[in-house]
Amino acid sequence: MYESLERAAESKWDAPWRTGVVETIRDRSVIATPISEYLPERVVDGRVALVGDAAHAQTPMTGAGFEEAVIDAAALARELGGADDLGAALQRYELLRIGDMRDRMAAGASFSRGFAGV
Ligand SMILES: Cc1cc2nc3c(=O)[nH]c(=O)nc-3n(C[C@H](O)[C@H](O)[C@H](O)COP(=O)(O)OP(=O)(O)OC[C@H]3O[C@@H](n4cnc5c(N)ncnc54)[C@H](O)[C@@H]3O)c2cc1C
Repeated sequence: MYESLERAAESKWDAPWRTGVVETIRDRSVIATPISEYLPERVVDGRVALVGDAAHAQTPMTGAGFEEAVIDAAALARELGGADDLGAALQRYELLRIGDMRDRMAAGASFSRGFAGV
């Protein structure tokens, strides 16, 4: 992987930046974090509800994955609190959150594409 990264850096970066990028890769002083993204269609099925990254993994570039997970958990707790009908409460949770989940994930994906120049 490092070799292909080095080749890509050599072809993509202009001098003088190329030297720094290539040296960093050769020194193995770069880290790589695989990025998974997931745009949810639904986050509830029967008695199962997803929150956080399991529901809507988004690029760390948003800097908001933790916040979104907490908002999910709070919304879920609010809807479940005192609910007689579990299924209806989970459906309300999904309805409340799915729009924001999709918007934030899509915004992050768009930002990533722009950043990577693809
Ligand atoms: C490099 C990086 C930088 C980030 N920077 C930011 C940032 O600046 N700000 C921000 O808000 N967010 C950031 N995030 C995103 C944030 O970390 C996540 O969105 C957030 O942790 C999601 O919380 P979660 O509870 O949904 O999932 P997680 O935090 O992933 O928790 C899931 C837990 O489930 C456990 N688990 C997995 N499988 C099983 C199993 N089979 N049985 C039992 N347990 C299991 C895991 O060990 C883990 O502890 C960043 C993420 C990365 C990767």
